[in-house]
Amino acid sequence: MQFRNFKMVDYVVFGRGSFNQLDEILAPKRKSDAPMIFLVDHFFEGKALPSRIPLRGKDKIIFADVTLEPKTKQVDALAQQLKDEFGTVSGIIGIGGGSTMDLAKAVSLMMTNPGSSADYQGWDLVKQPGVYKAGIPTLSGTGAEVSRTTVLTGPTRKLGMNSDFTPFDQIVLDPELAADAPVNQRFYTGMDCYIHCIESLEGTFLNEFSKSYGEKALELCQEVFLTRDHWDATSDDKLMMASYAGGMSIAYSQVGVTHAVSYGLSYLLGTKHGIGNCIVMNHLEEYYPAGVDEFKRMVEKNHIDIPTGVCKGLTDEQFDIMINVSLGMKPLWENALGKDWEKIMTREKLRALFERL
Ligand code: NAD
Ligand code: ZN
Repeated sequence: MQFRNFKMVDYVVFGRGSFNQLDEILAPKRKSDAPMIFLVDHFFEGKALPSRIPLRGKDKIIFADVTLEPKTKQVDALAQQLKDEFGTVSGIIGIGGGSTMDLAKAVSLMMTNPGSSADYQGWDLVKQPGVYKAGIPTLSGTGAEVSRTTVLTGPTRKLGMNSDFTPFDQIVLDPELAADAPVNQRFYTGMDCYIHCIESLEGTFLNEFSKSYGEKALELCQEVFLTRDHWDATSDDKLMMASYAGGMSIAYSQVGVTHAVSYGLSYLLGTKHGIGNCIVMNHLEEYYPAGVDEFKRMVEKNHIDIPTGVCKGLTDEQFDIMINVSLGMKPLWENALGKDWEKIMTREKLRALFERL
């Protein structure tokens, strides 16, 4: 097909307190006595949120350990645990940041697709719809709530399960849930959105669809991280919509240099996505001059520390691993640098960039 015909999230609810509608939203999706599984970010263990989850029958809350980003092994183990315990489930509800939402999407798919989630890392390899899945973000920025991928670290690569079966059936955007996010984490994840906008708007894949969403998301990021003089509830509202629009923008285009490089860092060093993107963006004046300048002003205004020297002391072999992972992200490089990207981003040039981080 010449034009991408992309699958979107089926239902969206937005508003402060909309989480309270969850019972009503899930009721028609319940299948006889198969439970709803609530995969909840472990940050909320012992907090008030779990007591607000509308548990019915055999429903279960599983706290997701997101100390590390999701792995194919973790997804496979969770899906197996649910099959052993319940046979089948009515749905998987992911409540948390990008990591928890990605886990929920992947576990939903692995309830119905055979083998390991590692078999489906790539584009359009998933063959069966998963079980019903809903995403409820508690951090804003990744766009995982709207995307057609779930990013997993597998035995040989960090790559998403990109497919038409991957988007959520339902998302609940309740900015109240993001209110307790620590300032640094909120910034790192928020910058993921900012960087999605820069990479989409500066990319060669840009079209009016992506541009419309990207420009709006960029404006919202600028408001919350530069113009507004303090953080309040409205800032959470705006950043949650920025994340949504930023995700929609890259859905019809692609990310770019920051992501390609930060995937390499993350694969080798386990650097998390948000902070990894910030570490890389800090050194990308050559590719995104205006974006990097504005990014640095946002860092300063919000008093955030961006780590430096993260590749000091790495061996040639380790640099090679990062370079291989990074150069493997072909569509990202093509979006950023055009069809001849391989002539521009040589292994030597990329090595020099990694050394600066
Ligand atoms: P995260 O989900 O990894 O969470 C970061 C930290 O914040 C964790 O310690 C978590 O416990 C904590 N946390 C979450 N919500 C909180 C809250 N309300 N208050 C306090 N702490 C809270 O962070 P993220 O940046 O949202 O997600 C990063 C992940 O998203 C990566 O795994 C990345 O690969 C993935 N990602 C996916 C897509 C996609 O399209 N599927 C896009 C971008 C990133
Ligand atoms: Zn990202």
